[in-house]
This record gives sequence, C-alpha cells and structure tokens, in this order.
Amino acid sequence: MKSILNPTQGISLSQLTITRHPLPVDQPIIKTDQYSHMNAIINAIHEPVLILDKELTVQSTNNAFLQKFKANKDKMYNTNLEGLIHNSSETKKLIRRLKRLSKTSSSFEELELTYPFNKVGERTLLINAKRIAYDDKDSDIILLSIQDITQRRLIERQKDDFVGYVTHELKTPITSLSAFVQLLQGYHEKTGDKKSQFLLAKVAGQLERLTKLLSSFTHVYKAQTGMLELHREPLDIYELARETVEMFQYTTATHMISLDGTIARHISADKERIRQVIINLLINAIKYSPNADAIVVRLHEEAKEIIVSVQDFGPGIPKEAQTRIFERFFRVQRGSQDYAVKGLGLGLYIALEIVKAHKGKLWVESTEGKGSTFLFSLPINSQK
Ligand code: ADP
Repeated sequence: MKSILNPTQGISLSQLTITRHPLPVDQPIIKTDQYSHMNAIINAIHEPVLILDKELTVQSTNNAFLQKFKANKDKMYNTNLEGLIHNSSETKKLIRRLKRLSKTSSSFEELELTYPFNKVGERTLLINAKRIAYDDKDSDIILLSIQDITQRRLIERQKDDFVGYVTHELKTPITSLSAFVQLLQGYHEKTGDKKSQFLLAKVAGQLERLTKLLSSFTHVYKAQTGMLELHREPLDIYELARETVEMFQYTTATHMISLDGTIARHISADKERIRQVIINLLINAIKYSPNADAIVVRLHEEAKEIIVSVQDFGPGIPKEAQTRIFERFFRVQRGSQDYAVKGLGLGLYIALEIVKAHKGKLWVESTEGKGSTFLFSLPINSQK
C-alpha cells in the first residue's frame, strides 16, 4: 500500500487518500507490512480511528481509540462490527450507512450516535466514514474517524436549560411591564401629555422587541428539548402563503414579493408554525438582499409532498456556509457590510426545527453573486 500521508502533518480523514496497487490473487488481501504502514498512519491521528474491511470486520484501530474507549484490541480484531456493538436504532442506522458506502457514495460525515461503552459509559460520538477503494474491490477498506462530543453536547444542554430558565423567569415581569405601560399610555392619552406619550411609545417598542427575543429563545429551547408541540389542522398552504406574502408586502417599500404556483390540497400542519417558517425566510430574503428589488415565493405540489420556496437576488451564500447557516447562532461573516445586518443566527434554526417536526425538509440552493433560494417540503397526507 502506498500512502501519500506524512504522519508529521495534521491529518484529517477527509484528506486521506490511499492508493494501492492490485495484489496477485494468491496473496492475502492486506499484507503485514501494509498493515504496519497503515497502523503507523492511523496512530499519528489524534482522534479515534477504526478500520473495517468491506464486510465491516474490524481490521485495525489506533491508540487514541483504545485509550479513549478503554477497548480491548484482541476482542475487537477480526470481529464483525455488527456482532461487536449493542443493537439499537442508532447503531442499526450506522451499520446501514456503512453497508451503503460500497454501493452509492464513498463517504459520510457527522453521523451522531450515542453509545453505551462498557468501560467508559455513555458517549455521544460524531462519526465520519470513508471507503477507500482499491483496484481490487475485495481489498476495499472503510475508515471511521470518531469524535467524542459528549462534553460539548453536555455544555450545550446546560446552556439551553439556563436559557430556558431565564426566558421563563423573564416572561412574567415583562408581561406585567407591558400591561402597566398600556395603562399609562391610556392615562396620558386623556391628559394629553405629548412628551409622556412619546416616551411611553418608545418603552412599548422596546418591550415588544424584548418579547420577540424571548419568544425566539423559547422556540429554541423547546426545539432543543424536543418540546416543540404542533397543533395540526387541515391547512390550506396556498392561502397561508398568499396571506403572509400580502402582509409582508406592507412591511417593505424596497422589494416586490410575487407568488407563483398553487397548491390545491390541504395538508395536516400547524398553521402558525408554518407561517413562522415562511416569515423567517421572507425576513432573510429582504434583509440580505438590500440591493435587489424582487422576491419570488413559489408553491409546487408533487406526488408525496408540497414544496414552498423563497427566492431572493441578493449576494448568495458561500458553499462552505450553506449547511452551517441552519445551526444555532451561526451567521455568515462576509466583511464589514454584513455587520450592519442585525440578527442572532436563530431564524433558520427555528425554521428548520419546525419543518423537521412536520417530517419535512428545509434546504438552500444558492450561487454567490446571484442570490439564494430557500426551499422547504412538507409531506402530503390523506387530508383533502
Ligand atoms: P440571522 O438572520 O438572525 O443572522 P438566520 O438563522 O436567519 O439568522 O440566518 C443565519 C445566517 O444565514 C445569516 O446571518 C446570514 O448570514 C445567512 N443568510 C440567511 N438567509 C440568507 C439569504 N437569504 N441570503 C444570504 N444570506 C442569508
């Protein structure tokens, strides 16, 4: 086996390419010296790595793996992964994805899995896998790089709990403040005190902003803790999109929002939450295309799903950021002009969680300099 890797350099699995010349048929699939070469490579990698053959039998692992998970090398080697790990829906998914590697694509990234190790307890893992193909197909191997993100997930959960707690505690005083401000506004309408009216209007405006922020945090908290409840009803999605576009047109003097296509059937969905998704996409389309003047909302019906898209003609989104924009608090940094656009990096995350709760999908198609189209699909069910 020839390797192009230099173990002294940092190695990441995605960079790993191994070329190998076909072996004569009477030779074992992987020779001893090839193994020692491969082991030297994977031992230079700091994160745990596992090497499987194409039947998913463990061929090798590195010190990082053995130390991190206190695993027994002798028990693992030459054992099929399926027989080695506990059976759960998550591990079944891993095995399915690994088996599929041969047929369709040669790698997958960031499969998250929580696994109860015998010696180190439950760990949350992020798994990247790459099938390394050789001329002789039987010799293909699969490299798994495993990142232990247990601590990261724990901190995120604590952060979410804290945000949930603070949000909850702030709600009552803010609701009371809003009520008092309304009372005072009523009072000063009668007294005719213009200055107080002006100042109270400012207070009311800021309280409204605070309420919106709290509502975003509540949404995020609920999504994070799996408490995003849906109030499903038969929904006329065309009517909802039409209403929302019409309402939004009043809020912008710069963009013309058009609605294209139609959807005849009703779907079972939570109207207010789907409205929120369309609103979040429209807010972004306007916010991030300050030099454009059009936005197109399209509706489209397929056999099993409906698709709604919001297209803008702004700067677009760099390829490398296109998956990350759906993460909490992620914002694309394109230079000084972007800092002028305010935001928390929550709008798309909330939209994604809502769509996922409906068993739909949300994604983006974007070319830099030409604009972005955000699309979401929702499954069609029996309701007409
Ligand atoms: P926010 O707008 O509050 O930052 P979002 O979650 O709605 O949060 O969006 C995340 C990031 O994705 C934004 O900061 C922006 O960089 C990018 N983005 C979202 N929508 C668009 C769009 N239509 N055009 C260009 N960039 C966008």
